Amino acid sequence: MQFTSTRNAKEQVSAAQAIVNGLASNGGLYVPGQFPQVDFAALQGKSYEETAYAVLQPYLDDYDGEFLKQALAQSYGENFGGKAGHMVQLRDTLYSLELWHGPTCAFKDYALQLMPRLLQQARGMLHVEEKTRILVATSGDTGTAALNGFKDIDGVGIAVFYPESGTSEIQRLQMVTQEGSNVSVFGVQGNFDDAQRGVKEAFSNIELAKALEDKGVRLSSANSINFGRLAPQIVYYVYSYLQLCGNGTIVYGQPVDYCVPTGNFGDILAGYYAKQMGLPIGQLLCASNQNNVLFDFLSTGNYNAQRDFYKTSSPSMDILVSSNLERLLWHESGADGVVQLWMDQLAKNAHYQIDSNTLAQIRQTFAAGWADEEEVGAEIRRIYDEYDYLCDPHTAVAFKVQKKQLATERHPVVVLSTANPFKFSGKVLQALGHTVPEDEFEALQKLQEVTGRQAPAALTGLKSKQERFTEVIDPAAIAQIPLTL
Ligand SMILES: *Cc1c(COP(=O)(O)O)cnc(C)c1O
Repeated sequence: MQFTSTRNAKEQVSAAQAIVNGLASNGGLYVPGQFPQVDFAALQGKSYEETAYAVLQPYLDDYDGEFLKQALAQSYGENFGGKAGHMVQLRDTLYSLELWHGPTCAFKDYALQLMPRLLQQARGMLHVEEKTRILVATSGDTGTAALNGFKDIDGVGIAVFYPESGTSEIQRLQMVTQEGSNVSVFGVQGNFDDAQRGVKEAFSNIELAKALEDKGVRLSSANSINFGRLAPQIVYYVYSYLQLCGNGTIVYGQPVDYCVPTGNFGDILAGYYAKQMGLPIGQLLCASNQNNVLFDFLSTGNYNAQRDFYKTSSPSMDILVSSNLERLLWHESGADGVVQLWMDQLAKNAHYQIDSNTLAQIRQTFAAGWADEEEVGAEIRRIYDEYDYLCDPHTAVAFKVQKKQLATERHPVVVLSTANPFKFSGKVLQALGHTVPEDEFEALQKLQEVTGRQAPAALTGLKSKQERFTEVIDPAAIAQIPLTL
């Protein structure tokens, strides 16, 4: 499979090259030249790893098949406690796809357990001699998942930048206590977009690139702009759809709607990829929190990042510039050069307006809704009371939007549950009507007591871990970090 850049159709690279490079030239993103068509119906009854192989191999056709099988087994087997792609039925046609059974308790493990293996293999395939330095801007979960996935991988170092007070305390502790000889973590003054901009600027900093080249170092990204992040997320759409066939909810070919709590537009875009590959997905419902820039965009075609930024209880969705949208625009606009134009306008004026044809086409698949903080709390409570099901604030955004948007359900709905509720114990406790202890571990303990559910050991164990990283820096200083790693 050849990959091209959303900003330069002449650029053509292999999957391995796309994964090593991270970003394409001119700041574009790599997109596959076409969508491979897979006979999904034939995958019914297969394991998660087998499904993953069938979905990913056509994209990663430059990789050795045996390597890929082994990497998938290492990433998704015991690592997910046997619960990769685990689904819970709330009522007849409503399902929660629990994507948080991996090592860091959020859905980003799906991509970030596999991608480091793909990167390491690609370095060998392409005889990359330079060291790779990964820079990650995170609103919480990506950083932890990336640190966990990349720790102690040969030839690779990773630096994570999180907004100083933009994550939950548990999220912060997961990062700053990370073990491994090749990891470092920095707080950044500002919000997620400040951190992301700082990282993007480091990538396009020519002097930095020169200085790194002299040291034999190459920069790469683990943010969801890397194709190696996006592809693994296609798999659980396929796997969950086939489970609905297996349990008799649908027969193969009937549409299923997916509601996705969205920030950087990576998770939901993977659903679009699954659909383009032939999976019978009906609608993809894009659920935003109060930072509802995507809701406005999907309603009007006007992407306007110039707006107030809200810190919410679903911090991984507190994003104003959703990078992966660029890929969708490229696939749907069909016109070479127009994406570059829109992205230039975004960089210069913080907004752009797409044409009505492209918008209409996008809206054939995508719908959108959003939920404010009050609604999110009430939804956590409702889901618990009605279905005896505990969900985190990100997942609650999606449940709320699903309820608002799909008042008359046409198809079975799968809500993507993206984080373990114990990662956000305070908010969940409050939503359930309890007082919230100030200390996050006491809150976690209390949530266990009042619900009778067990928090994962990966979270309860944080309490006794040493904080390794305490430095807080200016976003403008991010570009100096790679030289010091
Ligand atoms: C990252 C994240 C999201 C948003 O996913 P995107 O791919 O950025 O749209 C939603 N929920 C949780 C818990 C996350 O960590």
